[in-house]
Amino acid sequence: MAAGRCLCGAVRFEAEPPWRWFAHCHCSICRRHHGSLFSTSVGTDASRFRWIAGGEHVRRYRASPAFERPFCGRCGSKLPAPPQDPRLVNVPAGMLDGDLGGATPRTRIFVASKAACDGIADALPRHDAYPPGACPPGAHPPGADPYDIHPTGADPYDARPSGADPHDADPHDADPSGARAAEASDERRARPEPATALTGGCACGAIAFRIAGGIGKLLHNHAAAARRSRGAAYASDAAVAAERLHWLRGLDSLETISLDAPGAPTPAGPFTAAFCRVCGALQPSPLVDGAADADGGGGAQPGAGREPAAFLVPCGAIDSAPAPAAGAVHIHVASKAEWFGIADSLPRFAALPPGGVRAG
Ligand SMILES: [Zn+2]
Ligand SMILES: [Zn+2]
Ligand SMILES: [Zn+2]
Repeated sequence: MAAGRCLCGAVRFEAEPPWRWFAHCHCSICRRHHGSLFSTSVGTDASRFRWIAGGEHVRRYRASPAFERPFCGRCGSKLPAPPQDPRLVNVPAGMLDGDLGGATPRTRIFVASKAACDGIADALPRHDAYPPGACPPGAHPPGADPYDIHPTGADPYDARPSGADPHDADPHDADPSGARAAEASDERRARPEPATALTGGCACGAIAFRIAGGIGKLLHNHAAAARRSRGAAYASDAAVAAERLHWLRGLDSLETISLDAPGAPTPAGPFTAAFCRVCGALQPSPLVDGAADADGGGGAQPGAGREPAAFLVPCGAIDSAPAPAAGAVHIHVASKAEWFGIADSLPRFAALPPGGVRAG
């Protein structure tokens, strides 16, 4: 039995193996909603899943007619999804405590949709879309195993294109023209900007921002708070000086929460997360003085009318996030998920790099 909870702890649940799937998903919808390079989720039988607390905090964003992406209305953490197939539940693995019975991720899916700044180094099987055997929703052929990895019948990530907004386009759609349309939209969106300007925003389109210049060092943050916030194996954020982040719209839709990092090793500092109150997508959150000492790689001194000097920008919130100019590092590795092994050769720090986190 693994206990799970959101970043703020309001929503709690339990899940139990056997895990029907254990996968990293690199699709653009997962990246946008989780704010990370990829989502990591495990699947279990509905009979092996139990809500413990916090139902009143659950908000629902219907990304498509068929699927919802529920999130905690207090902290923005993505929550286990009510599956279309009532036999299954999809659980963001980063929210679960412990070693998950020794299980480890088994596959990477939608690798064809991965972010440019995502350098996959491990030897897990990679699939451009769903693995062979997984089927479109409602189309399980007779004899097909609905419990195959990331079965679409239970897949909360099966948003469908429903309009011109590229955020609505779904790389999970079996129709490749949908993916091409999304890419074309991304290109159109990026074209008016100088090459070094980046745009970003939430999934529903309420919030949009622009970053002048590229992103500096990308921080792969393995702290428990970061994992809970993103629901993934780790968070990947860029520390961006406040003067380079320009909000284009939607600040009235932005929720920001700051709290002592739950489950973090000492010294535990504040951890901030920001998200769209409509769709739940993770957005830039304040990183201010003292943040270098905060577990979670970012902290804040909210309130008091103080403007943050920098923001931690979830890379999944950036449209077409490029490779960072200054590389990437793993931080808070001492707190990493027991079920995740780092395979790349990037610099690793047990907590923070000497000198802390510096915004670029
Ligand atoms: Zn919460
Ligand atoms: Zn996905
Ligand atoms: Zn939104």
